[in-house]
Amino acid sequence: MTPQKSVRDYIRTIVDFPHEGIFFRDVTTLFADPRGFRLCVDQLLHPYAGQRIDKVVGLEARGFILGGAVAHQLGTGFVPIRKKGKLPHTTISQDYKLEYGEAIVEIHDDAIQPGETVLVVDDLLATGGTAEAGIKLIERLGGQIVGCAFVVDLPDLGGRDRLTQLGMEVHALCA
Ligand code: 5GP
Repeated sequence: MTPQKSVRDYIRTIVDFPHEGIFFRDVTTLFADPRGFRLCVDQLLHPYAGQRIDKVVGLEARGFILGGAVAHQLGTGFVPIRKKGKLPHTTISQDYKLEYGEAIVEIHDDAIQPGETVLVVDDLLATGGTAEAGIKLIERLGGQIVGCAFVVDLPDLGGRDRLTQLGMEVHALCA
């Protein structure tokens, strides 16, 4: 009998992408495989099944793919956090630091009601800057974050510690 593949086995690493020295975790191979994708979505939502969750928030762009599937399975609404200028209605914005420069993410100002419980989903946690910006937006709208779920956590880059210090519960499937 062949051993069951784990989520990590479906992810490929691309060396020197998008620039030299980066080992990019390519999750498209995980998403493209029917078993891999189901396994990943099931494991992402497992800790939250049975908890009260009103909204799943996905971070652009791979967080939309995962977050949509998780929201469907949990029977919740889905809310996107997008890069600046993409959302059509009134938004609130949050800037954050990148390796080189800054970025801005946005959420519709009516996407989350005060007191709603929220699960944050993205594919990968590195420095935690993107997730922290998303967390700030959700909290500014009065959302209560139940957890932050990622497929990959790169602990050496400090994201887990950063989110934990913000009081977040971090769930990741592999490193
Ligand atoms: P952070 O803000 O935590 O430093 O970076 C995480 C964000 O960058 C996530 O939205 C994630 O999609 C993206 N990201 C950074 N490095 C990688 C990588 O190696 N693979 C993938 N799939 N996404 C990455």
